[in-house]
Amino acid sequence: MADKSTSLPVPIIPKPRYSSLCSDDEVLDDEGDLCYESVPEKRDLWIENYSSLPSTQNSIYLPVTGRVLAPSPKTDSTPQLTPVIKMGWLDKNPPQGSLIYQRRWVKLDADYLRYFDNEKEVYSKRVIPTSSITGVANVGDQKFEVVTHNRIFLFRAESDSERNEWVSVLQDMTGPVRARVSNELTLNPMVNSEMKGYLELRGLRSKLYTVVCGDKVFLYKNIEEYKMGIGITSIDMNVGNVKEMDRRAFDLTTPYRIFSFIAETDQLKDQWVEAMRNSIAEALSNYEVAEKIWAEPDNQKCADCGAPKPEWAAINLCVVFCKRCAGEHRSLGPSISKVRSLKMDKKVWTNELIQLFRVLGNERANQFWAANVPPSEALSVCSSSEERRRFITAKYREGKYRRYHPLFGNQKELNNALCINVQSNDVCETLALVFCGADVNCDTGLPDSPSPIALAVNYGQALQVEFLTQNRNTEIPRSEVKLAIHTEHYMAPPSITHNGFLFKTASMARPITERKNKEEFSRRWCVLNDGNFNYYESDKNATPNGGLKMKEIVCLAVSPPETHGYDHSFEIYSDAERLYLFGTDNPETMREWVKSIAKSFIPQCAEELLQKDFERIGRLRYKDPLNLESSRVGWFCLVGSTLHVCLEDSHGQETIHLQKLLELSRDNEVLVLVERGRTLYIEGERKLDFHGWAAGIERAAGSSGDTLRQQQLTEADIPVIVERCIHYITQYGLTSEGIYRKSGVNSKIAALLEAFRRNARSVWLKEAEQQVDDVSNVLKRFFRDIEEGLFGQHSQNWLTTTAVSDESKRISHYQLLFNNLPRVNKATLRTLVNHLYCVQRFSEMNQMNLHNLAIVFGPTLFQTDGKDYNAGRVVEDLIQHYIAIFHVNEQQLKRQLDEITYIIKLRDNLNPKTGPASGDFICTVYLEEKKETAEQHVKVPASMTAAELTFEILDRRKMTWKDKDYWCCFEVYEKEETERPLHYQERVLPILHSLGTDSYLLVKKHHSMEAMLVYLASKVDVTKHGMLKFREEKSLLGLTTGSFNDRYFMLNQTSLRLYKDVRSNRAEKEWPVKCLKVFQGIKKKLRPPTCWGLTVVYESERTEKQEKQQWYLCCDTQTEMREWFATFLSIQHAGVLWPADWVKSRAASRAASRAAPPDARLGNVSLIPLRGSENEMRNSVAAFTADPLALFGNL
Ligand SMILES: [Zn+2]
Repeated sequence: MADKSTSLPVPIIPKPRYSSLCSDDEVLDDEGDLCYESVPEKRDLWIENYSSLPSTQNSIYLPVTGRVLAPSPKTDSTPQLTPVIKMGWLDKNPPQGSLIYQRRWVKLDADYLRYFDNEKEVYSKRVIPTSSITGVANVGDQKFEVVTHNRIFLFRAESDSERNEWVSVLQDMTGPVRARVSNELTLNPMVNSEMKGYLELRGLRSKLYTVVCGDKVFLYKNIEEYKMGIGITSIDMNVGNVKEMDRRAFDLTTPYRIFSFIAETDQLKDQWVEAMRNSIAEALSNYEVAEKIWAEPDNQKCADCGAPKPEWAAINLCVVFCKRCAGEHRSLGPSISKVRSLKMDKKVWTNELIQLFRVLGNERANQFWAANVPPSEALSVCSSSEERRRFITAKYREGKYRRYHPLFGNQKELNNALCINVQSNDVCETLALVFCGADVNCDTGLPDSPSPIALAVNYGQALQVEFLTQNRNTEIPRSEVKLAIHTEHYMAPPSITHNGFLFKTASMARPITERKNKEEFSRRWCVLNDGNFNYYESDKNATPNGGLKMKEIVCLAVSPPETHGYDHSFEIYSDAERLYLFGTDNPETMREWVKSIAKSFIPQCAEELLQKDFERIGRLRYKDPLNLESSRVGWFCLVGSTLHVCLEDSHGQETIHLQKLLELSRDNEVLVLVERGRTLYIEGERKLDFHGWAAGIERAAGSSGDTLRQQQLTEADIPVIVERCIHYITQYGLTSEGIYRKSGVNSKIAALLEAFRRNARSVWLKEAEQQVDDVSNVLKRFFRDIEEGLFGQHSQNWLTTTAVSDESKRISHYQLLFNNLPRVNKATLRTLVNHLYCVQRFSEMNQMNLHNLAIVFGPTLFQTDGKDYNAGRVVEDLIQHYIAIFHVNEQQLKRQLDEITYIIKLRDNLNPKTGPASGDFICTVYLEEKKETAEQHVKVPASMTAAELTFEILDRRKMTWKDKDYWCCFEVYEKEETERPLHYQERVLPILHSLGTDSYLLVKKHHSMEAMLVYLASKVDVTKHGMLKFREEKSLLGLTTGSFNDRYFMLNQTSLRLYKDVRSNRAEKEWPVKCLKVFQGIKKKLRPPTCWGLTVVYESERTEKQEKQQWYLCCDTQTEMREWFATFLSIQHAGVLWPADWVKSRAASRAASRAAPPDARLGNVSLIPLRGSENEMRNSVAAFTADPLALFGNL
């Protein structure tokens, strides 16, 4: 007979209706180390006693200090929760005193290592939690050890390979990672531990230490084992019932067995009965929650790995999951996943929360959380802890698989949408909003419902309230990887779905230059879904041949029809520099695909672009001159000759008319687009798609045909070729005798015309390279050849108008015809006639009077052979009655003519012998410092003052300034290391023409202006005298050169006098102040004794003999220098250094510019980036900005 003390009955375990994992079994603290003593031999008797039990009832319940350790129930109806990883026969080391190994059927799952008498046995003889295993060691002879804190188990396998397998899987299953996770699973171990003590179990002559805890009753051999965590079994109370029996006895009945207990006293019996009944009640209530939640079929499987009957939930994420996944959820922390047991944490399971899990639950929540799970990353029931951790972290912490809400990234809109949505019952949308960043605690702006929760309360949306409350402090998923990526790269993949067959070539890493024949394409089943585009061998295949994520797409380009073997084709460019070509013969199919793909990668901020019938759409990095330091991401689409762009910080899309660009150039990986008033630098972030964009934009910016409107146009709708020729003639040809009548060199004319036809914008007419007669003939030939002619289809009506004898009737007839011309013809005709009008106004020099011009231009413009005299008559009328027919503002015309006169004079003066020199009156001006990015090109009309120039620069740069900023234009001489602030009323043009190659104009703040004004205001009469250190450039006065000497100076209203010393009676030298130009600074090479120096240039007046001197003055202090300088300026400018009201004068200047059309304003400014040499730049700038004709643009 067995020793009573060791002959413990193993009670029959009720067949549970549910898997019976509970919070407590997660707890394995160190003091609870399992320490299994050798199983008494007599135990088998007990098992034999119950051998009639159905073999399927194999649940093992190992109670450990009130915690369930090994509940892995297996029933017929419920698959085993934790799959068996390995099982087989092993020999177990003999108990003490025995030499015979015991043959055991051993099973290992993720949680327990158990062994049984045989493979049919339901009740194990031993259970070793894997979490308590600290080591597994190979000890030779097919043997291995399983080490726990208190004990070593020795097993022997049938072969070395079998042994190695056991060791290997055991090592995988155990180890520090698992142990750590298990510890993190710790759940309130002593929850509801209501009663413990010894009870006698009838039929057993020993008392068992019994613990009623939660919804279970645990049996231990004695209190010591309870303390050590070693138990016999546990009874799941959800199937239990307690009946009071005679005296101190009571029965715990289950469907499988009746446990008849005898309490030590009557009083204790009552307590036991009550405790067990409470336990039953709790068990029932716990199952109640689980059952309610499992009522939704999707809640019957773990949301993460699919394991059945998940008993855990994240009450904020609204998903239900298995115990193993729960461990990983816990490690995310409660700010991400609030893990609760369906069975244990019954207090949290309010009706609203349960209802929420039925409405959301695994199905809907996963539609959000797991919208984009790649099969390779998905979990299965068998996934390892490491896999689970990776997946669950990605899923909930990073939100990697989320279905992005379309408003993602737009905080304001998200919050707004949340506030609106919580008024409805759509909790799915709330979930999507909140986990895409909507702020649960945002301000609704409503005093009576200040938060979304309050709003939901007001609208009686209990589930919304519940969801929001659970997520009040939830951390929103954010991918750490994504942090490094610029936010502008983000795009919400909208849920666009499309599929069908397409033909595809192999993807490539270089642009497609050749035609792809049909043979090079393969038929593929293509699927666009949830932000992924995949292509399959056929629609029957489950594994894609390849694909790409929508967010990887940077550009989509539609090829012109019949580019390739398939009539319709499009290209997709990925950010990994791959190009994918797809084709189809069906135009509808292509349109649909293009539309769907574009929709799924263009972000909401640029969705306007989707409405266009684009040939190319995508994202590019760009810079603008206002912010050259950093490039930003913009969305572009090319439609015909128009580029539509959605740039950062601009609202809505903008359009760039490519045929009207002032300049388009490509500089390595940068495409520069210059429009009037704006320059855009498009960067080639990636070579492949940039190449496509650049080619497309260049093509679109070129001429598209032979009619006027198909030419590259200026902003004023004039063909570039016309504008450039007219400008050139205006600059260099108005004084040329017989201009437009003389023929040029035919080959040169043809070459130039061809160059214009190829790309007019790139043709810069330079005086040194072109003859005026060649250029004038290019213009004539252009008009003679242009398709449809300048006068369009009704040219005959123009010709017959000459027959109208009444002049005023004739004029109104011309006006009518003019008004009926197409836009481009109109602008071109007006410009040309204006030009011809100017030409004949200077006929004294060029001999081309009205009549001569008419003879030349009549047949040219009407494209007749010259025999129809009416053609000349029309041109003559148009020039002669130019003002009347075109409603010309005579004042502006006069200004234009004045300006031309000024140009002619200026050039004559500058180069009296060589004739007209470069007549550029375009100047390069820098803002704040000389560097390429601060460079601007300004057309400087004769009348422009320094103040106007300054205003222009600041306006163009959108600079704001205050009254005391004293923005000023400086002329800077690099070689001399000097600079001079221009007086605000000083004319810029003469200074511009006197600038050497190493000097430039710079607009910057004049930092000593305020001090100078203060100084001058304090003076009664503006004179100054004092000692200065003086040095001559040349030894004019016979003084020692090469050094600075003290001299006494007197400056009065008329002159500057130099005295040898303060006591000298006679000045050694005297200069008229008006002939002095004073610069700040002295070049360092001269080694000035202080850094407060002035360089003075004296230029004698013209009438005298030409004389120029330069010398240097050095002051001891900055203040002194400033005072001298202020005195000079004050004398030279009648005491006014600065306008009384700078801001007001700027406003006036602006008003003037508004009153006149932009082009008509003297001093119109264009910003053009520098390309090529300075000289080329000047010419190119001049070519398209210095257009006096534009004065009439608005008439
Ligand atoms: Zn799971």
